Amino acid sequence: MRFASLASGSSGNSTYIGSDNTHILVDAGCTRKKILEALTELELDLPDISGIFVTHEHIDHIAALYTIRKKWPIPIYATEGTIEGIRLADKKKVLSDDLFHIIRADEEVKIGDLTVRAIRISHDAREPVGYRITGSESSCAVATDLGCFDDYTVECLKDCKALLLEANHDSRMLETGPYPYNLKMRIAGDKGHLSNDSSGELLIRLLNDNIKGIILGHLSDHNNLPELAYETVRVLVDMSSTPYHSGDFPMYVAGRSSMSPVIEF
Ligand SMILES: [Zn+2]
Ligand SMILES: [Zn+2]
Repeated sequence: MRFASLASGSSGNSTYIGSDNTHILVDAGCTRKKILEALTELELDLPDISGIFVTHEHIDHIAALYTIRKKWPIPIYATEGTIEGIRLADKKKVLSDDLFHIIRADEEVKIGDLTVRAIRISHDAREPVGYRITGSESSCAVATDLGCFDDYTVECLKDCKALLLEANHDSRMLETGPYPYNLKMRIAGDKGHLSNDSSGELLIRLLNDNIKGIILGHLSDHNNLPELAYETVRVLVDMSSTPYHSGDFPMYVAGRSSMSPVIEF
């Protein structure tokens, strides 16, 4: 399998996951052009994509659905709540009914030789989810836009070989930064975004012997720095009581507009 972040952050999110035969995207929130450029690097084209699995209806996760549809009718998989949100944003009615496939949290959907399971997450959207994708032997997952995590989250994400985990903000930068008070509260709240510290704490609970790569993503432009996210998570892993060290597996920070390294497993 291959796993790569095509773009990540408040300006747009899209992740590629594929086996030799089946290729999917989780979210299409950056421009269609950016997705096409990244897919070209993977020697793929948009018509090769069997489905776009949407995590939630915020614009940084759905912006390219409309422009993609204008050229290719790629199926869209999402929860009922998210589909409602996408339709409300679709003022010009570009997306027809037959494009949508309802997915329910904790249920599995088979698409080619991949199995996709939606995972409930805590975020200020209608019915947001993360996704765990399993191929013939291995699993990977995308978990961004979550204000907090619990044992359920850990259970759903454990034993993955590749993970895209949110490391949205440094708590101190958020606290002292330029955002208005209400927005700060929203981001730091249980339905907001994971801080670097929380991301590290979540990762510590997900470490296993078979990790091939971790990508930290959805970094805030104003309240985080790539080096800070990386170092915070690295130090937390090294200080943890687990038998693992940060040097045991590759860890990357996803770029806002550049593709991450491709994790193969
Ligand atoms: Zn969101
Ligand atoms: Zn987002």
